Amino acid sequence: MKYKISIFLIILSQFAKAQVFSDYVDSSNLNIKKAVDFYKQYLSEFEGTSLPDYSKYWSKDDCKRFKTPDPIVYSITSDYPTYNFGAQKTIFYAREYTNYVHLKTLMTQTDSLNNISVYAITNHYISINDNSEKIHFISPIKINSHLYSTEKNGNIRYYFLKTHQFNKAKSDQLITLLKKFEKDWGFEPIQFDYYFSNTQDELGAMKGLDYYYGMEQTYPSGIAFPEDKIVYCNGYDENNLHEVLHLYLNPTHEKSPVNHGLIYYLGGSIGQNFNYLINKMNEYLSKYPDTDLSTFETLETKDITLHINHTVIGLICKIIDEKEGVNGLKRLLTYNDINTLFKKEFGLDKKEWDSFLKRKFKKYNTLKK
Ligand SMILES: [Zn+2]
Repeated sequence: MKYKISIFLIILSQFAKAQVFSDYVDSSNLNIKKAVDFYKQYLSEFEGTSLPDYSKYWSKDDCKRFKTPDPIVYSITSDYPTYNFGAQKTIFYAREYTNYVHLKTLMTQTDSLNNISVYAITNHYISINDNSEKIHFISPIKINSHLYSTEKNGNIRYYFLKTHQFNKAKSDQLITLLKKFEKDWGFEPIQFDYYFSNTQDELGAMKGLDYYYGMEQTYPSGIAFPEDKIVYCNGYDENNLHEVLHLYLNPTHEKSPVNHGLIYYLGGSIGQNFNYLINKMNEYLSKYPDTDLSTFETLETKDITLHINHTVIGLICKIIDEKEGVNGLKRLLTYNDINTLFKKEFGLDKKEWDSFLKRKFKKYNTLKK
């Protein structure tokens, strides 16, 4: 999953009054005016984390296929809509085509010193004259489909830029890992769609984003939509086990405080396996020796590529897996809180976690010796 955006940004955007500017748009064109009004109405329905009734805005087919038919909604972070980041939305481009109107919007936030932060530049395509349907959005993924190829391997339907040569061997590696996971954990295979690119810019372009906050970060990342059975990722090519595990585990275990750490343990993160993350955590601990791991659940990381909570839980999964295998891991998923887990599994109180965890991280460091 994507790294959580700073809570501060979210709070900031919640208090700002949303405004939509469309002064640059030629409102004498009736189809453009209709599209802009429709789009403004849609934007006004995003409030906090609450979402619009998509069936009022997206085609019947898209609503049948997707719980979230709009690929832009969770692009900055997986738990807060992109549309609620920039309080000022400026529709600066509107062009009419035969079948639809294309709008571009700049989403910004201006602080008290008039500094402007840009959160997204989006593309929306609005079908005006579809005789069989009401006015509705056409997914950028559909509009951009001429840019990418598709390939099916086993239960995975891949989508990627035409400039990429599909690597069947890498895809087979993922399928082998998945088959083992399905067998060990007793899951039936899931059919899913897997969109991938080298960079976040390329992935953004497929989803209708010219820019979104964080797009320039170069480490591999991804996002999974378990209900829609879709993975988007960049920097992993055909083999991103982490996001695919979200498709399998989230429907039953999303609320477990162990779920995401378990996925770190099984599937790694930022394009690296879990041993790499253990070493990274050890480096972090020597750089910041005051880090108190007893507070790991809420600790703010000083390195955006190291998620402390998930890495600590991943370590706990590794300790239990080495002793008891999958049955032990399944038991970890049944805990509702971490305090009970530590007490029952290791007989430890919160104040003892720090030294215990630091000792274990050191023990599993593969760079020592
Ligand atoms: Zn994740």
